[in-house]
Amino acid sequence: MPLYLRPRIDPPLASLLRAQTFLHSLVDALGSPLNVLLPEVVAENAARFRAVYRRHHLSGRVYFAHKANRSSALVRRLAAEDGAAVGVDVASLEELRHALGSGFTGDRIMATGPKDPEFLWLAARVGATVNLDSPGELEQLAGLVRGHGLGRVAVLVRLSGFESAAQGGTGTRLLARRSRFGTPVREAGALLSALERHADAVELTGVAYHLDTTGVEEKARALEQCVLFMDECRARGLAPRAVDIGGGFGVGYLADAGEWERWTTALSEAVLGVRPPLTWRGHGYGLRNEGGTVRGTAALYPAHRPTAGPGYLDELLSLPAPVLGRPAATLLLEHLHDLYIEPGRALVDQSGLSLARVLDVRPAGEDPGQYLVRLGMNAGDMSLEEHGVLMDPVLLARGEPAANDEEGPVGVYLTGNLCLEADLITRRLVHLPRLPRAGDLLAFANTAGYAMDFHAHHAQRQPLARTVAVEREGDSWRWCPDEDYWPITPSGGTTA
Ligand SMILES: *Cc1c(COP(=O)(O)O)cnc(C)c1O
Repeated sequence: MPLYLRPRIDPPLASLLRAQTFLHSLVDALGSPLNVLLPEVVAENAARFRAVYRRHHLSGRVYFAHKANRSSALVRRLAAEDGAAVGVDVASLEELRHALGSGFTGDRIMATGPKDPEFLWLAARVGATVNLDSPGELEQLAGLVRGHGLGRVAVLVRLSGFESAAQGGTGTRLLARRSRFGTPVREAGALLSALERHADAVELTGVAYHLDTTGVEEKARALEQCVLFMDECRARGLAPRAVDIGGGFGVGYLADAGEWERWTTALSEAVLGVRPPLTWRGHGYGLRNEGGTVRGTAALYPAHRPTAGPGYLDELLSLPAPVLGRPAATLLLEHLHDLYIEPGRALVDQSGLSLARVLDVRPAGEDPGQYLVRLGMNAGDMSLEEHGVLMDPVLLARGEPAANDEEGPVGVYLTGNLCLEADLITRRLVHLPRLPRAGDLLAFANTAGYAMDFHAHHAQRQPLARTVAVEREGDSWRWCPDEDYWPITPSGGTTA
């Protein structure tokens, strides 16, 4: 039985994937690999997050975490949304410049991550909110504001090191997740003193966290600790208004929970040697066999998720806070706090795909049923594997099926265009409904979050993927280069 891991594909993307002739002609003209984006989908995703705010009667803004994708089309499309509802989170000087040039005004921009002085200066100059990563950054910002006679800058303080309960052999312990970023909560008192000292240069407008976890309880605990910390700020005469709960709402990549369970079970069995390897050279994705027992943790994204994105936010807001007992949304409402979120991956869910031309198909070696399929792309061009996201591509045949296409499901390793043993698009055996032929396309769905350009590089002078934005127009599709997209129709109307 083929171990499929078929992608979840919602209507707009599904309809694009049915436009096979269109996609083939795009790759014929623009080369392989090629990234295709649906800017309308990010606007729809932002609206879904806004609907969760409404359901919980919350105000505040959705900030798109730009780092998930370099595209101009996506950022410009979001810039066209209601300014009070949608902003952008930038994590570098160039992302900030890009957001400004895409139509975001400074007051809709949040600068996050560690910042160099140029980034801080421009953020302060244009009136962006600075999400402070450390006390040192606060000193530097205050110095810049005074030295350059800038206006008072709105700042959030990013906290980290929240304690959460962990069940262990010795009962419940408090564990603090370590992070390179933010100020540990236990050092936040000193930060408040510094904020008071620099009150002429900065105004504390909120408290932030961003946790690299899928655990909703841990996030609920952090949210509550932020609300309690806001009380402390107010008691000291500061007046923060917003709780920024960062990103990490996640994406459900796979259509079928059963396929995901079967595959992960099969991986453990293969690691134990009770079934043939599922992966190139027996790679275990972090699992290993220690004397007949599977050890280690699989470094895999939970690719099938019953709740993700807006649904995950809804769940988090509905969860009772561990100390105060009331749902997180109620805590925010009672305190009249605004809610900020910074979704990256979840905001670009279903908004793009990556195409690769099949260049060569050959037997994989001893096993007669397995093949190596070499693609016109490399592991940097389509980095789902790098992010531990396991998902099958969709085969888009060129022209009519040939007579021998009846063969049925086949296992293939997808290899890249670099002269490098390690350049595998997937380290696992991918099952496809039939063997691809040279000239076919493989479409990797849902790559807009971190997978289509995050790791792209110039090794061997192989071509970087071009990116195009597409839009449905009646029965056909209109496209333009990503950099030429603006959120207006060719006749000058608005798409928003
Ligand atoms: C990366 C990042 C995000 C976005 O995370 P996703 O998992 O893509 O939603 C948001 N905020 C900060 C501070 C980040 O570093």
